Amino acid sequence: MGFNNSIVRYFDDVLDWTPVRKSLLVLVILIVILVHYWVFQVYQMYFPSKYINYKVLTTLQWGLPFLIFLTGLLVYVGKQVQDKEWAQQLFACISTFYYSISLVILGYTIGLSNITTGLVMAGAPLFGFVLFQRHIVYAAFGTAAVLIIVLSALSAYGHIPYGPLFKPEFFYAFKARPFYLLCMIYFALPHFITIFGFCDLFFIRWRQRERNIHHISITDSLTNLYNRRAITHCLENALAQNAELVYPVSVVLLDVDFFKKINDAHGHLIGDKALQVVAATLQSTLRKADQVGRYGGEEFLIVLSQTELEQAVIIAERCRVAISNAYVSDEQDQRLQVTASFGVSCSEQCGYQLDKIVRQADKYLYEAKHQGRNQVVSILNTIRT
Ligand code: GH3
Ligand code: MG
Ligand code: MG
Repeated sequence: MGFNNSIVRYFDDVLDWTPVRKSLLVLVILIVILVHYWVFQVYQMYFPSKYINYKVLTTLQWGLPFLIFLTGLLVYVGKQVQDKEWAQQLFACISTFYYSISLVILGYTIGLSNITTGLVMAGAPLFGFVLFQRHIVYAAFGTAAVLIIVLSALSAYGHIPYGPLFKPEFFYAFKARPFYLLCMIYFALPHFITIFGFCDLFFIRWRQRERNIHHISITDSLTNLYNRRAITHCLENALAQNAELVYPVSVVLLDVDFFKKINDAHGHLIGDKALQVVAATLQSTLRKADQVGRYGGEEFLIVLSQTELEQAVIIAERCRVAISNAYVSDEQDQRLQVTASFGVSCSEQCGYQLDKIVRQADKYLYEAKHQGRNQVVSILNTIRT
């Protein structure tokens, strides 16, 4: 779990890596794949199967280490130029081409019509598209596809051998089938792990991004409360859900009193801090199921689901007292206190129409301002403490 988490964390920002860094990742994966194939080659040198074409195996003895060395060299070059602007697209192009051509050559030596080719053809573009620009993937994948078709056609018409690493009977002899099966599993394994692992990582990352974007889209960045769109949506939902069973929904609209004076006297930064304090006070005073959002500049909207007007007025009053007791420290470390005025409306009086219920709360808020501020007003008259 810990190991898994650290891998996920390492690749956390893989989509934001530079093209060269992404290419280096692909090349390192290629080295792992090549080493995996080389292990097979070395094993066959010591414990040869009768279906192996020994001549090709000895060529691979040098071919594979050479490819590993060449890939390592590319990694080295990539490391040297990874901060250079001019190298980004060029190196990504070279690496993706090199990756696909190497895999086609490897695929050809073991026979192209098998599960490994299928996996690579379906999987490599998948994570290619996530990592690189489309035209690079199209170019590299297109070239590889054409090569595969040409090589397959040439071997189909007998111009070149099919799967030259193996003797022909490997592909059709009944007795070769267990060995064939093992070989195919062995060759497909690194591709399967790479593609599966990468898809998993990308989707973990994707879901995280989705969650972040969703959070940003519904949150007011200053106060961390719901923004206007989100709190309106909450109210819409509350009204729709409770309308059927005729459960009451109450709305509280509150506006900080003489807020302009705070800005004018102490600056916007202290003003912002005051808004944060008001937001935090509202959050800690309200019940868990209540929803609160920043409706405008220094205006907040509270949605109280399944709450009657009397109860809503009590909650609003509790918030009013809490805000008047809260404070923000100004630049001289002096306590600065604010108050707010509240208007409360309820579906019991104005129905379940969003516009109507908000308009009514706004009307009572206006009355609260008019009657001297720092008070809660609803149809039940003014309550003052
Ligand atoms: P009233 O009691 O009538 O509501 O008076 P008021 O001064 O609070 O109302 P007014 O509408 O005249 O001023 C609201 C001020 O709130 C003006 C605006 O600069 C300030 N304001 C709005 N949004 C923000 C904000 O995000 N940060 C800060 N610091 N000030 C804000
Ligand atoms: Mg105000
Ligand atoms: Mg206002």
